[in-house]
Amino acid sequence: MWWDAHSHLSFYSEQDLNRVFSEGALLGLTTWLQGGYDQSDWERQQQIYRQFPKQIRTAFGLHPWAVTALAPRQLELQWTRLTDLAPQAHLIGETGLDYFHSREPQQLVLQEDFFRRHLILAAELSKPLVLHIVQAHGPALTILKASGQAFRGLVHAFSGSPEVAEGYLRLGFLLSVGPGLLKKGYKQLKQTVATVDLKHLVIESDSPQNTEKPEVEVNWVPRVARAVGEIKGTAPEEVLAISRSNLERLGL
Ligand SMILES: [Zn+2]
Repeated sequence: MWWDAHSHLSFYSEQDLNRVFSEGALLGLTTWLQGGYDQSDWERQQQIYRQFPKQIRTAFGLHPWAVTALAPRQLELQWTRLTDLAPQAHLIGETGLDYFHSREPQQLVLQEDFFRRHLILAAELSKPLVLHIVQAHGPALTILKASGQAFRGLVHAFSGSPEVAEGYLRLGFLLSVGPGLLKKGYKQLKQTVATVDLKHLVIESDSPQNTEKPEVEVNWVPRVARAVGEIKGTAPEEVLAISRSNLERLGL
């Protein structure tokens, strides 16, 4: 029934994956959209997809952290591999800008370059995008607008203000709300959830939360849906039903 708009199942062992799917099913979760990181992650996603085609929707992309971490030659080799594999993915990404992770000018230029390349790739393949934008909404929106493209996709772990939200909505993106909503602070996100129509919001776990020590944690999606429902005065089941139909519009 319910979909998780963003997770990283490639972090889990075979045994834990089975637990994610069986414990998830008990909570009504049936489908997990992925965020791509690098080549080994895409290959793992493909393995999981072969085994569990109903449960996962693959996303292949070079995450901004991978873009800054890989040596230049590796980065280009992985990009070439990505362009070969991307036709098989459901979504393109994660891609975007992360100014919290790195503010070194050279690395920012590199992140922007690869962000633009992903936008072109997604357009060529007519596939939806998964965006990862941290402390860089201004420059990201400038790049997106300058591309002149029409977009489908989602901004994962969105936590920006209603004004920033409006910028992405105008471009056609969904805003994906995750466990941040359950934490103290996150005032802008709470304002955004209060003001943006549910038809633009989707719910994600971004699990595993701790990638060093991945744990099976399937209840984030229902918990975030409950928090969204409390803000909107809507039943959590309704929030999850709308989230799913929003994601279905991506044509995965
Ligand atoms: Zn992610």
